[in-house]
Amino acid sequence: MLLYTLKSEVKESINYEINLKKTIGLVPTMGALHQGHLSLLKHAIIACDVVWVTIFVNPTQFNNKNDLNNYPKNIDKDLKMISKISKNVNIFYPEISEMYNSKLKSEVYDFENLDKELEGKYRNNHFNGVGTIVAKLFELFKPNKAFFGEKDFQQTRIINKLIEIKGYKTKLIVCPTVREKNGLALSSRNNLLSLKNKEKASVIYNKLVYAKENYLKIPFKIIYANCKKEINSITGFELEYLEIVHNETLKKENIIDLNKSYRIFICVLVNDVRLIDNILVK
Ligand code: AMP
Repeated sequence: MLLYTLKSEVKESINYEINLKKTIGLVPTMGALHQGHLSLLKHAIIACDVVWVTIFVNPTQFNNKNDLNNYPKNIDKDLKMISKISKNVNIFYPEISEMYNSKLKSEVYDFENLDKELEGKYRNNHFNGVGTIVAKLFELFKPNKAFFGEKDFQQTRIINKLIEIKGYKTKLIVCPTVREKNGLALSSRNNLLSLKNKEKASVIYNKLVYAKENYLKIPFKIIYANCKKEINSITGFELEYLEIVHNETLKKENIIDLNKSYRIFICVLVNDVRLIDNILVK
């Protein structure tokens, strides 16, 4: 297992791998790894000759300073977790200055409004930050395949658009969400919850399932009101949004068309810790 911190060294390795016609797989993460990240890694190992995991808390995608400062970090544990899966994985763990030089700013992309929905309404410029770091990583690693989680489904739609805008040859592979037994989607931010709140946070997935089971029977406004009442009744919990949108455009539609595919998205703040999840309804 090799740990790289410099782009120049990564470039050298990647050129070597490209010359050998290896299939390069990339798993971008912000660290504080959990089984969700490791499932992406396992998918990548099966599908690719060489796999790179990147661990980088990307400052330009944080709209909230506290969220950035509190973001959990544990590089030693991360390395141990990766090495238990495979000793043949390469890791890139750069400093902020290595990725951004002196210009800590995101590019501005035209994501055709995908970035204005859902998370985009609450996290100003977040997806430009995501696009900026993913573009830097794709240009450095030139991956044949890049692995992202369905848990951040809006992010996968953005990256799809980025690939289209930039003409990257990378294939985006979306891997299923890994959950706790109680349904809570694994997330690095779960580390910031008390054990009790982690248990109570099962309400997030439960409400997604409730909405999925009832969206054709009950008006969505009522579903929303019921969920909000129940979630907000838990101390420290606050529903930020619960929306049913078109699976590709991520836009709300006035009428549910049974020939189309929809997805329900939720965001709940637990003592200001932002937890998101989603479920495909058809
Ligand atoms: P993050 O470190 O939170 O930026 O996540 C890195 C990658 O892991 C992203 O593609 C996420 O969508 C994915 N990921 C995060 N949590 C999960 C999960 N519970 N199941 C599957 N993939 C996940």
